[in-house]
Amino acid sequence: MNIQWYPGHMTKAKRMMAENIALVDIVIELLDARIPLSSKNPDVRQLAKNKPRIVVLNKSDISDPVANEAWLAFFRVNDLAAICVDSVSGKGMTQITDEARRIMQPKLARKLARGRNFTPIRAMIAGIPNVGKSTLINKFVGKSVTKTADRPGVTRGKQWIRIVKDFELLDTPGLLWPKFDDERVGLNLAFTGAINDQIIDIIELSLKLIETLVSQAPSSIPTRYKVDITDGESPHDILEKIAAARGFRLKGGTLNLERAAITLIDEFRAAKLGRITLELPAEVTTC
Ligand code: GDP
Repeated sequence: MNIQWYPGHMTKAKRMMAENIALVDIVIELLDARIPLSSKNPDVRQLAKNKPRIVVLNKSDISDPVANEAWLAFFRVNDLAAICVDSVSGKGMTQITDEARRIMQPKLARKLARGRNFTPIRAMIAGIPNVGKSTLINKFVGKSVTKTADRPGVTRGKQWIRIVKDFELLDTPGLLWPKFDDERVGLNLAFTGAINDQIIDIIELSLKLIETLVSQAPSSIPTRYKVDITDGESPHDILEKIAAARGFRLKGGTLNLERAAITLIDEFRAAKLGRITLELPAEVTTC
């Protein structure tokens, strides 16, 4: 799903978040493990009001495992529960319910001590487009004890997925908008597929990706495309080498740079150039 963030969309997304936040105990903030900073909504803390959050680094199967650990440590040092997940396989998912229980335990104990009835923990998943919200929810649905549990007394139309006896998930995710103000963030979102390709010049984007990979994962292009890169070589020359190595040519024999650009970007997104994380925690100041 690709959404252009016109002011109207943002107002609607904010209103939906506000409505749904009121119904839950805890917010599962889904980030892309390859770009945890760029995929973070700038206003999520405010939007979540005082509700606790669990940071879930999704797509951790295609991000750098060492960087995953560094990010987990970073969030935990900053007092945020953090978990790495792969929503496609479901790896790490049970940690989400475990963590939610741990966080909510004192509150639940107080409630029961006051003689209130037991109620399951209610959570919602929130994140920017393409971060994997639906994939994770579907995985939870697959594990649920009752596919959807209608709960009387909550806003009509809201459906809860009961995962285990004491944990329910709102079946609609909170849609958050990405940051717009920073060129690097915009590029990271485009590299990973969070922004609609159609609004971006694909060759331009591939040149930026080449520049980024040469500095952050220098062996990735040479290894994948069997090309040599010399010091200071321009991204354009490197793109030509990729096109030549793959035999991408137009009629008449000129190199097909567009096809090389599309291939590079697709293969980067599919982690065929390796498990690459584009941002490391040292760059972060707040969470
Ligand atoms: P949403 O817009 O946030 O609901 O994102 P989707 O659930 O539609 O996922 C966007 C894309 O990311 C899909 O192609 C998913 O298959 C892929 N995806 C989601 N989670 C993961 C994950 O943990 N690992 C990998 N490798 N891909 C994922």
